[in-house]
Amino acid sequence: MPVPTRNELWTKVQQLLQKNLSKPSYETWIRPAEFFDFKDGCLTLLAPNSFSSDWLRKNYSQTIEEIASEIFGHEVRVNIKVKEEFSSNKSNKKKTFSNVEANYIATTENSDVKSKQTPIKKFLPSLNLRYVFNRFVVGPNSRMAHAAAMAVAEAPGREFNPLFICGGVGLGKTHLMQSIGHYRLEIDPGAKVAYVSTETFTNDLIVAIRKDGMQAFRNRYREADLILVDDIQFIEGKEYTQEEFFHTFNALHEAGRQIVLTSDRPPSQIPRLQERLISRFSMGLIADIQAPDLETRMAILQKKAEHERMRLPRDLIQFIAGRFTSNIRELEGAFTRAVAFASITGLPMTVESVAPMLDPTGQGVQVKPKQVLEKVAEVFGVTEEEMRSPSRRRPVSQARQVGMYLMRHGTDLSLPRIGESFGGKDHTTVMYAIEQVEKKLSSEPQLASQVQKVKDLLQIDSRKRR
Ligand code: ADP
Ligand code: MG
Repeated sequence: MPVPTRNELWTKVQQLLQKNLSKPSYETWIRPAEFFDFKDGCLTLLAPNSFSSDWLRKNYSQTIEEIASEIFGHEVRVNIKVKEEFSSNKSNKKKTFSNVEANYIATTENSDVKSKQTPIKKFLPSLNLRYVFNRFVVGPNSRMAHAAAMAVAEAPGREFNPLFICGGVGLGKTHLMQSIGHYRLEIDPGAKVAYVSTETFTNDLIVAIRKDGMQAFRNRYREADLILVDDIQFIEGKEYTQEEFFHTFNALHEAGRQIVLTSDRPPSQIPRLQERLISRFSMGLIADIQAPDLETRMAILQKKAEHERMRLPRDLIQFIAGRFTSNIRELEGAFTRAVAFASITGLPMTVESVAPMLDPTGQGVQVKPKQVLEKVAEVFGVTEEEMRSPSRRRPVSQARQVGMYLMRHGTDLSLPRIGESFGGKDHTTVMYAIEQVEKKLSSEPQLASQVQKVKDLLQIDSRKRR
């Protein structure tokens, strides 16, 4: 894979965890875990021993995934291995493959003798084992997308081709898409299922062009029976990738193979997407996933608790579900933090003991991003447009940074979403802004009082005390 080794990712995740965990937890579990590699959206870490790897997996892997995904801007999975075992097994990689993967390797090995030299790479679907239908809670928000996904897995290439699943960040698009792959392989273990992020597709293409391996690239992608392409919105503006994808799409579609795409918005709203791709993407079924209602969010947490063999009081489930409304990844992250917190501190799993943990700043209310912009503009004497513009004028950038900081603490928006509220700033810019404000608050009393003033206007602190 051409994705560069992103060692910094783990370092960044560690820094954020260090801020949010107690010192002993951090020193015991997080610091000793070493970075091994990062590719295809999978961050592999090495734990010093099996006890520590189990603990990390159980208590921290989801939080790590959540933070890493936020920093990286795409979904990141984490894989924790034991250092010694891993180094002694390296020469015999097959041992570490899951059933599905093993299945898959077997099929590709049998189906194509020529590919024997590189049998594993060729069609490894790298599906996340958690992303299966029976772990997906269906609510009114996802009923149609779910039904379409089942239909496609059962009868690929027939009714809905392509199936285009769209919906906001963290609402279950990847989960649903990969469920199709798992289910298809269950029905037909010989199926060639390919799961690829749009980023990987693009990177593979670049490598193919550079190394003059276009034929191999085309063969690889055009051989799939079922191809799952995640986050197709990232193809925007990439002319060459669009060109190549158009041909891949046509070749597969004409051959009656099933194509499934996900995106955070419908095809017609993806900017700088060629007309002909918009029309291809719209020719099957566009199914959207909306934000889940309270009942569905509670059912999701309930299911998760069952899977982890935990019993949580209903009012705690309701509390967490009421607090995280727009992103299931964040909802799950909150649940995991609550469980980890209770197990580390030995406190009971009640609303009272867990609430402060879910709300580390103590600002237990949700404010609207729009309100934050409005009040910051008012106090800092700039306009909302200026904050959204690229202007680097000091008062503007100061106000913008404070706005980002307050949005982080007063809303449950993710870093990329906060960036969007400020005219499409990058998530790393947001992260930097938050750090800057945190630093300055202790040394610049004038800034601190301005921030307090905005908080008062937003009633963040007073509402907190109810
Ligand atoms: P997206 O791809 O839309 O950003 P994901 O598919 O990665 O979102 O989902 C984020 C997290 O939420 C995953 O851990 C996923 O398992 C979980 N999730 C999302 N929707 C559901 C659901 N309906 N039932 C159970 N878990 C869900
Ligand atoms: Mg996704």
